[in-house]
Amino acid sequence: MGQKRAAVYCRISDDRSGKEAGVQRQREDCLALVAREGWSLVHDGPTDTFTDNDVSAFSGKKRPAYRRLVEAVTAGEVDYIVTWHNDRLHRRPVELEALIALVERTKVKVATVKAGEFDLSTRQGITMARLGVTIANDASMATRERVQRAMRERAEQGKVHGALRTYGYAGRRNDDGTHTIEVVPEEAAVIREAARRVMAGEALLSVVKDFNARGISSLRGGQWSRSTLRGVLVSARVAGWREHTEGRTNGAHGSLWRGGEFVAKAEWKGILTRQQVEQLRRALTDPARARKASGRTYLLSGGLVVCGMCGTPLRGRPTRNGLRDYTCTAPPVGRGCGSVSIKQDALDTYVRDLVRAAIADGRVAERLRAGSGDADEAVALVSSLETDLAALAEDHGAGRITRPEWMAAREPLTARLDAARRDLARRDGAESLALVSGGLDAWDRRWHEAGRSGLVDRQRAMLRAVMASVAVGPAVRGRNRFDPDRVSEPDWRA
Ligand SMILES: [Zn+2]
Repeated sequence: MGQKRAAVYCRISDDRSGKEAGVQRQREDCLALVAREGWSLVHDGPTDTFTDNDVSAFSGKKRPAYRRLVEAVTAGEVDYIVTWHNDRLHRRPVELEALIALVERTKVKVATVKAGEFDLSTRQGITMARLGVTIANDASMATRERVQRAMRERAEQGKVHGALRTYGYAGRRNDDGTHTIEVVPEEAAVIREAARRVMAGEALLSVVKDFNARGISSLRGGQWSRSTLRGVLVSARVAGWREHTEGRTNGAHGSLWRGGEFVAKAEWKGILTRQQVEQLRRALTDPARARKASGRTYLLSGGLVVCGMCGTPLRGRPTRNGLRDYTCTAPPVGRGCGSVSIKQDALDTYVRDLVRAAIADGRVAERLRAGSGDADEAVALVSSLETDLAALAEDHGAGRITRPEWMAAREPLTARLDAARRDLARRDGAESLALVSGGLDAWDRRWHEAGRSGLVDRQRAMLRAVMASVAVGPAVRGRNRFDPDRVSEPDWRA
């Protein structure tokens, strides 16, 4: 075999102790190792190493370069991953497990500057690695606890000053008895992040869970809840305004507080703009948003799309740019490997079209029918009633019959259709058959009817009638458009 190909991975974490090797030193040591071994170097686009900067492997934040590295390995472009120490590659157990799976699948080898070859292809090597990551994880947990304790102490100090301390602001008593209220930068950053995500359509609860998972404390050092975070985001205070809430005598307000009246510009600086706070108030009191937040708008939720790497159902979630993704979510939020993500709208359309193709070629209905016995007659009845109703609507639409005529003719048909559907539902497997009967035209009609009425559940049932799930693999480097090669053949039911 020819020259081995190596990819260098460097990661520098947010290192206040200054004890870790700088990314420059990691890089030089790794490149020296590659040169010594006579390997060729796999580049990460324009750069010679895959480098993630200033992100802690423990926090669960994304590591874009690492993802690209995994993609390159998966694509068979890499024989050796070279890194300064194996803790650069993973710190959390789930990341190690994903790496073990990657090694098993691709036979890639891991070489480290500090500890030589890191052998994940044998049982002993894997056991040692698991032990190592457990210890590293304990160390990170201890760090996090220390940080939380410090934040709690600071919050308690703030509490002594009563109303002078609110989330995002700390007050100082001056010698002349006046107060100066200043922005607390790290809390302001948390408020801005929450505002940005909520305005992009993310559910408040999802932001709350993420903050708690990341160890970001609320004012009193405790966990965030929806009402505490909402209380911050809808307050005029964070826009630098004094506010007044009817009947409110002290700092406490109920869980459904929608923010007070903007009374006057305050002497403290705004963290958000007034416009943003008003937008947040609208967003957080919008009933449509509550439905959206429940996840029902994700067609392929509930296990219809799974991760091709780890088999976990992908979760729908809004992205920063206002679009939506299906994503394999790593702990602590999810249970997946975190290595797969795909655009929602493109995947929804693609999977729907796969199912349409299966319906069009007729085999799906045939096989479902073979398994469902005597439901045929009931299915045919439902199908013909649906066709009649559609024809009637068309006549009305084209002006061939009046609206009263249409209504009068529709009523008995609808009643018969409901009865026929109930009859079908009593038969085993017949509901599925009903959803695919009548060929592609009937299927499309049902699909659009459900779409117009916002019945995503109904559309999901139409997919579920014929398929269990599709699997989505990781993105291939350099392909930014929707890539059908990543999507497996559906696991057909029939
Ligand atoms: Zn996964």
